[in-house]
Amino acid sequence: MKKSQIVCGALGAAAAANAVHAALFRPKKTEVAPLPQETLNVDRYRANLSKAIQIKTISNRDIDKVDWAAFDAFHAFIDEAYPLIREKLEKTIVPPANLVYRWKGSRPELDPIALLGHQDVVPVSKGTEGDWTHPAFDGVDDGEFIWGRGALDMKNHLIAVLEAVESLLEDGFEPERDVYLLFGDNEEVVANDKNGAHDIMEYLKAKGVRLDCVLDEGGAMLPVNVKGVINNKYLAGIGIAEKGYADIEIAVRAKGGHSSQPPKHSAIGILANVVRDLENHQFKAAFSANMKMLFESIARNTTYPVRLVTCNIKALYPVLLQICKLIPPAACMVRTTTGVTMTAGSPAPNVLPQRASVTVNFRAMPGTTTEDLVSHIKKVVHNKDIEVNVLNSKEASKFSPIDSRAFKIIEHLCKAIEPNSIVAPYLVMGGTDACNYEPICENIYRYAPFKADASLLLCTHGTNERIPVSCMGEGLLFFKNFVRDASAE
Ligand SMILES: [Zn+2]
Repeated sequence: MKKSQIVCGALGAAAAANAVHAALFRPKKTEVAPLPQETLNVDRYRANLSKAIQIKTISNRDIDKVDWAAFDAFHAFIDEAYPLIREKLEKTIVPPANLVYRWKGSRPELDPIALLGHQDVVPVSKGTEGDWTHPAFDGVDDGEFIWGRGALDMKNHLIAVLEAVESLLEDGFEPERDVYLLFGDNEEVVANDKNGAHDIMEYLKAKGVRLDCVLDEGGAMLPVNVKGVINNKYLAGIGIAEKGYADIEIAVRAKGGHSSQPPKHSAIGILANVVRDLENHQFKAAFSANMKMLFESIARNTTYPVRLVTCNIKALYPVLLQICKLIPPAACMVRTTTGVTMTAGSPAPNVLPQRASVTVNFRAMPGTTTEDLVSHIKKVVHNKDIEVNVLNSKEASKFSPIDSRAFKIIEHLCKAIEPNSIVAPYLVMGGTDACNYEPICENIYRYAPFKADASLLLCTHGTNERIPVSCMGEGLLFFKNFVRDASAE
């Protein structure tokens, strides 16, 4: 046999083996029985979400600028909208306006579960009010969408939790574990000294409460449909960790003086080199085990021709990592990010600055602390005369396990409600209240069971935030089952 024939034969065998591998590289089959019939009052949920949006519970870093009467009104609205919750659950207000509801279970020896939500919303940016199709605080339900600030972040979620509990009470359901509903008052104020969720956690901790699990906002049921690559799937990302947050100011000093006699480099010129050093020395990128799990789950759900490539996902990781580093929305998932956001120099155009500074916003991967960020700055910046000041910071969370009872319940419900869902753990890029509960809970998950595509999710905190009415019933179904399943032993 000729050498070329041997090579061709070997290549043919390898291609055949790859074809078999690709055919077998399918989603792991698990039979999930459909959920039993459920009474769901979607109309009441819609009406109450509309009303909730109309109450302007806007948080502010300065607590004196918060309209606390709006929070009082929100509390009164909940009492009126959900009479059985008012009657049967124990309500405590942790000042100033954090809400704690406790639904007592029949088995006090079991650790309670907690469902989280934040009552507050972000304001509408000045000058953009007129860009909204329907005013941001009217809560208009046009039959297709409910419009307004908080429709997706996260009055939809908070009201669904209340609606699910009210509905279970109407059914006569009694939980075994205590069920806590914990609604903070200032989640949208990032890395603040005064933190509602933290205060709620301290309140529970002082009472000796240890939580079995916490469920908060985070991932969603994201439609994934790329013709010929992946057909009609939903990606349900369950947040098992969140990144840290830090605003760090870096400053340099110089002589200053009159700008008619400038030195070769002013403080700002010196600072430019600092910024260049920082941007040229990004943090190291890497795929976490969970990230690989996410990629593999998606790869297994691609069409057969695509799987001829994706079945070799493990071998593709080094290339994938290089690609991720080039795309900002992907890069932030694999590394601590460095965003230079603000600069300050002298107070007038004809004055040389005596001090110039930049503010850098870092989003740290779990495992990287604020102290690590400061060390990184000092290591990569060549100028050793810089001043480094941490302005605000919040540490990254730990990773919650993916073999816990609560994770399995969430995973099961996602698949039972949407058989075409790909359920995978993921790292939440923004912050949530959930990480505040780490001192009293190990199983912390961030997932909102609403089908919403990326374009809708991008409207949160922006113009025309709205929720599709079509996804609200499934959201309710999820919470009702979650409370029922997770509160059992
Ligand atoms: Zn939120």
